[in-house]
Amino acid sequence: MEQEKKIPLSLYGLSAEDINELLELPKAFYGRQIYAWLIKGVTSFDEMTNLPKYERERLQALMPSISSSTVTTSEADESGATKMGISLYDGSIVECVLLVDKKGRHTACLSSQVGCAMGCTFCRTGTMGLVRNIAAEEIIEQYVHLIRVSKQPITHIVYMGMGEPLANIAAVTRSIRFFHQEQGFNISLRRITISTCGIVPGILKLTEQKLPVKLAVSLVIADNKIRDRIMPVNQKWDLNELKRALLHYQRLGGKRITIEYCLLHNTNTDEEAAKKLAAYLKNLDALVNLIPWNPAEDMPWETPSDEEVDRFLHFLDRWNVKYTLRRSRGREINGACGQLAVPLNKGMEYDFLDDEEDED
Ligand code: SF4
Repeated sequence: MEQEKKIPLSLYGLSAEDINELLELPKAFYGRQIYAWLIKGVTSFDEMTNLPKYERERLQALMPSISSSTVTTSEADESGATKMGISLYDGSIVECVLLVDKKGRHTACLSSQVGCAMGCTFCRTGTMGLVRNIAAEEIIEQYVHLIRVSKQPITHIVYMGMGEPLANIAAVTRSIRFFHQEQGFNISLRRITISTCGIVPGILKLTEQKLPVKLAVSLVIADNKIRDRIMPVNQKWDLNELKRALLHYQRLGGKRITIEYCLLHNTNTDEEAAKKLAAYLKNLDALVNLIPWNPAEDMPWETPSDEEVDRFLHFLDRWNVKYTLRRSRGREINGACGQLAVPLNKGMEYDFLDDEEDED
């Protein structure tokens, strides 16, 4: 019995050979030409001018090369961040953000799910529950929409948009392998970061796959009782289990981990919190990234004052914790961590690394 051909959502994620086969192209090099156009962000077959006209017309009628479209674009004057609302094939909306840092580095912050099941109480996406996982094609397409507005090549990717990437690990790793293809976007794996709230089986799977991307873990506090309340994921995989997984990850070659520490007024900014954090990080190669919580409507948290943050830095110094304090870029367009909001689909966490080390 002939096996039915599986039609992907779009051509993003396919190799030139796969494109040849799927579109039944009469000449093998057409596949390479189409692949090259797609990498440049050209998605209309009509604009792929090195293909014969009759072939372009045939392909146009056959299937779309891209499955999503941009519905909104907003730019922040000061930070240079650009936030995009992307409509997926089924009408779901996700957001992605282009960030430009002080070194001129361009980073794409991508969503991996519509909504999120994790329910972190400081994140607007956490209030909406999981709608669905995003396919690898749809993750790659967010990057493509961003390169169209970027004035320079986007060299870094962070999976810190809507959703928990390790809860959709198959699509996320497939998209990473595509971003890394040398003849394609050619993004170094060391410039790709996955951010997790602490999905232990996902960390173990990532370790097994030996995919040397960077890992960021949202910790918020090194106290099981309080973390249980702030991040329900802790009730399933507590701090001890999480630490065991992180140690295993590093034993098997995983690089320095970024510990995301969202600063919440009167909750995780006292000396006791600094002391517990120092104890938790023992034996881990980790850098703490401090992010004062970004105000978001109807959320039960407050942003700490500058004095409160300074006091906490002093405690961290006292307990020898290595940290960076992240500036919040994109706040003007509601594009900073925990601020992104999608009409109907509620909201999205957004976060990014202010990585001090540029390893390349
Ligand atoms: S912080 Fe991340 S994992 Fe937690 S609810 Fe928000 S999107 Fe989900």
